[in-house]
Amino acid sequence: MHELSLTLNMIEIAEEHARRENAVAITSVTMEIGALSGVVPEAMEFAFEACSKGTLADGATLEIRRISALGHCQLCGEECEMESLLDSCSACGNFALDILKGQEMALVELEID
Ligand SMILES: [Zn+2]
Repeated sequence: MHELSLTLNMIEIAEEHARRENAVAITSVTMEIGALSGVVPEAMEFAFEACSKGTLADGATLEIRRISALGHCQLCGEECEMESLLDSCSACGNFALDILKGQEMALVELEID
């Protein structure tokens, strides 16, 4: 599962940060996940439950913010929301879209004790 390694990596970063702040626990983690990142939020929640056991993030709440994706049409210049990589331009139907955002996955907030 793709989400498992991403989650392990994310917990590692969160723990590193918490240790630097001399925290004893991580209480809340907020992630932003782009609609085109390929990450399934439900799978990430599941992976977080499993992977956080025994770490500083044990028992922390995970908040996932889904970021909608935005494409830029190479033909007509229109910017349109994308739900998948196979989406076409909403104005002219062209498939050559540059992805402006929506592929990212980031740890954006951390609450520690
Ligand atoms: Zn277009």
